[in-house]
Amino acid sequence: ASFKDAGLHPAMLRNVELAGYTVPTPIQRYCLPAIHLGYDVIGIAQTGSGKTAAFLIPILNKLMGKAKKWAAPRPNPVTFQEGVDREFRAEPLVVILSPTRELAVQIFNEARKFCYRTMLRPCVVYGGYGTRNEQRAQLQKGCDILIGTIGRLKDFLGDPKILTFRRVRYMVIDEADELLDEDWKEELDTIMCGGEQEEGNIKYLLFSATFPKRARDLAKTHLAETHVRLR
Ligand code: AMP
Repeated sequence: ASFKDAGLHPAMLRNVELAGYTVPTPIQRYCLPAIHLGYDVIGIAQTGSGKTAAFLIPILNKLMGKAKKWAAPRPNPVTFQEGVDREFRAEPLVVILSPTRELAVQIFNEARKFCYRTMLRPCVVYGGYGTRNEQRAQLQKGCDILIGTIGRLKDFLGDPKILTFRRVRYMVIDEADELLDEDWKEELDTIMCGGEQEEGNIKYLLFSATFPKRARDLAKTHLAETHVRLR
């Protein structure tokens, strides 16, 4: 099997080819159809397995066909004035939670490849002194695919003028086993339930290198139908 036969949107197929990917990895072969069919997915996968593309390709591919319908209001990039045009807030369609800043940036870079020459705009937010204002400005220029660490996401979510989850269609929890520290429970709950969405329900995708009890509990609470891989 190759990406050519996967029935991808032409823009996505071109970006996959530009990235130099020809053959899907095993986790990608599993996730592409499952996510395309609308299942909530649990992926047990290590870094290096191609798990990032395994969720990015099918999610973005799905959104590309509907980008016009779902595109959020966006400021004019030519006339946009920072600090003046404040009426725009980020209304992402996809939220990807990362336990660390490094992983968030890695996912962002991968997302940029697949969003190239599409209407979808990725953004990344993470904690750290002196980064907040710039990230807020980025969000307010428009964001469809939001990648972030949990603390900063909750921070921005606390201000409805900056960020709202009301349009979120896909919530991805990457390296869930790293994220599920008891300390983060409250923040995670806020974020997972943070979408008073307009229509339909959120698809939840959970990726983890191991599958400890907390990850199982999270899956039980939030994942609706789990697509079980049969060998
Ligand atoms: P990940 O497991 O998501 O951290 O990806 C590991 C590395 O594999 C990254 O550098 C990707 O760019 C690369 N990669 C992912 N999928 C493919 C593929 N189908 N073919 C070739 N390289 C890939």
